[in-house]
Amino acid sequence: MKIAGKIEKTAIVDIVCDICGVSTKTEFGDFEFAELSACWGYSTAKDGEYHEICLCEPCYDQVLVYIESLGGKAVNKKY
Ligand SMILES: [Zn+2]
Repeated sequence: MKIAGKIEKTAIVDIVCDICGVSTKTEFGDFEFAELSACWGYSTAKDGEYHEICLCEPCYDQVLVYIESLGGKAVNKKY
């Protein structure tokens, strides 16, 4: 037996860049963005904190330039 009823759902309707605030939604209705996240553990000053940053492509490129200026490097793989 199927019983129908109304339920309330929460869905992601947009993902905006945490630097410039632009929507990362594409013309196809999906999202193109970079995500930087960190889950800090007991031996850190941020114990128990979860940090998440979403970036649009232009802001990601700027962050990447900064990381590279510090000597860091992103792994670039085809998928
Ligand atoms: Zn941005």
